[in-house]
Amino acid sequence: MSTISIPVTKTTHSKLSETDFSSLVFGKSISDHMFVADYQNGAWGDFRIVPYGPMEIYPGNATLHYGQAIFEGMKAYKNEKGQVIVFRAESNARRLNESAKRMCMPTVPENIFIEALRQLLSLDKGWVPQEKGSSLYIRPFMFAMDNYLGVKPSESYRFMIFTSPVGAYYTKPVSVKVETNYTRACEGGTGEAKAAGNYAASLYPALQAQKEGYDQLLWTDGKTHSQIEESGTMNVMFKIKGTLITAPTGNGTILKGITRDSVIQLAKDWSQELVERFLTVAELQEALENGTMEEAFGVGTAATIAFINKINVNGKDYFLPEPKPDAFSKRVLSTLDGIKYGEIQDPHQWMLSI
Ligand SMILES: *Cc1c(COP(=O)(O)O)cnc(C)c1O
Repeated sequence: MSTISIPVTKTTHSKLSETDFSSLVFGKSISDHMFVADYQNGAWGDFRIVPYGPMEIYPGNATLHYGQAIFEGMKAYKNEKGQVIVFRAESNARRLNESAKRMCMPTVPENIFIEALRQLLSLDKGWVPQEKGSSLYIRPFMFAMDNYLGVKPSESYRFMIFTSPVGAYYTKPVSVKVETNYTRACEGGTGEAKAAGNYAASLYPALQAQKEGYDQLLWTDGKTHSQIEESGTMNVMFKIKGTLITAPTGNGTILKGITRDSVIQLAKDWSQELVERFLTVAELQEALENGTMEEAFGVGTAATIAFINKINVNGKDYFLPEPKPDAFSKRVLSTLDGIKYGEIQDPHQWMLSI
């Protein structure tokens, strides 16, 4: 086991008692403490847990100019015994490091990531909501710290973790529009990295779709705009004639979602046919036209499963019925929720006890 020592400076004004856990807005309340580590001269050090608050950086901070910034998103839950458990934390630690490599940033040793998470969550366990449906959103992230205007990878970095209690993410069905003009990711680009810049680039196209009344975009490939890639900031799955279809990872454009991976694992466990291949826009439209599209849903940490009830393809709206209680998407959501709240067996050892 790791023996890294993390000095703690506790807050003198906890916000816990002022926080209304019955009306949490995603991303608004931040827990009392944060973990900080600095990378200098080729090594991580100066580990500390301190009160959440502002920090000083130079105007010449390389992140502000050239965008070396990556992040993760994961969740902690409280089981019936009140223990804090985190969903697939090691997978997030590994993915952070894959993103880091793509962005020329140093990796964070997994034991440091996990130990920092353990100590932060132990200190702020009062912030993990108890109510079913609620959870503690965890945001690990890393960014460049050099105060230098030349374009090159920074030599110093900061890695941080802070957390935010979030309410039941009301999984209201979402409407999406197939985007055939703008691109989220292209082969050879940074789509596979959880890089801040990917999000910045997606805001404008997403806003245009929102103005037209759609919640999210269905991104298509950058070269031909003929294949479905992801939905907003989620991976996306379709069930057509009994088979689940989701875009394959590995060509550099699809974010390797941990929810996606978990859903694929459960489909395997249940012998539900699932193929990892690109669904073309033409196939999507055909399945919507002829009624063979059975289910469509986004998969990601925030919502777990986001049911899609309307898809705009080539300017035409298609509506999907509410999935039946025995639909795959409904079953997979209730199974994942059961595992996350420690209510049912965790056959793949996904939960990390704090
Ligand atoms: C984070 C993210 C996802 C979902 O990943 P999870 O690990 O399931 O939360 C999917 N697509 C994009 C673009 C993302 O940034």
